[in-house]
Amino acid sequence: MDGLLTFLGSGTSMGVPTLGCTCAVCASADPRDRRLRPSVLLRWREQAGGRERVVVIDTGPDFREQALRNRLTRVDAVFYTHSHADHILGMDDLRPLSFAVFREGGPIPLYAAPETAEALERIYEYTFSPQATYPNRARVQLRALAERTIVHGVEFLRVPVLHGEMEIAGFRIGRAAYLTDVSAIPESSFTLLTGLDHLVISALRHKPHPNHATLEQAVIWARRIGARHTWLTHISHDLGHEETNRMLPDGIRLAYDGLSLPVNLETAN
Ligand SMILES: [Zn+2]
Ligand SMILES: [Zn+2]
Repeated sequence: MDGLLTFLGSGTSMGVPTLGCTCAVCASADPRDRRLRPSVLLRWREQAGGRERVVVIDTGPDFREQALRNRLTRVDAVFYTHSHADHILGMDDLRPLSFAVFREGGPIPLYAAPETAEALERIYEYTFSPQATYPNRARVQLRALAERTIVHGVEFLRVPVLHGEMEIAGFRIGRAAYLTDVSAIPESSFTLLTGLDHLVISALRHKPHPNHATLEQAVIWARRIGARHTWLTHISHDLGHEETNRMLPDGIRLAYDGLSLPVNLETAN
């Protein structure tokens, strides 16, 4: 089964342009230098002519704008990588999409590790509390993120990575993987990343950061993982699209908002 992976956002937590900044990248006229907060969308059809299925990884503060740009009319499930603001703060904008999904078959499942689920429950108390009475709350339901989750015939495999001190979730879907906010990759996770056509991995900037890999480190991992194509995401305003791509090795490129990649969604084993 084939699907399409689309970058809803390729920017770091502050987005690019960064508020108040007048650097060359923030002032750039190249649309690929405008980066919304990090998120991807996966869509596929279980059979030709069947309903299109849509899964989002993370709903950051730009989710509404991203959904509009990509003409989203439904979301079948959301997977969360971790609880930081740039990955969860758009959850409430699932509301209008969730009403139709709910009428059809129930709430939109939100797959999240316990720490992320707790943050969502705290922030969106009026949605998740058993006492919630707010009538227009999102029709969503938190579900524990398992090692493997099947959504309408497609398997999402959890790939643990480190984000500073925190273990967070990356995902492998068929021959593609999405790893954001990575500062280290456990050895056991490398074994989940063999035989990829597309690897998406975060690369913040050149200068070291305690919670994020540098561009140089991401390139080293990309070479080790050996996907046919590697796409860098969660990019800060330190990296201009064109000039950075010029210095990257073959097969490794910066992603940009709106980039879509055909992906084979069959599970390898
Ligand atoms: Zn982030
Ligand atoms: Zn983070």
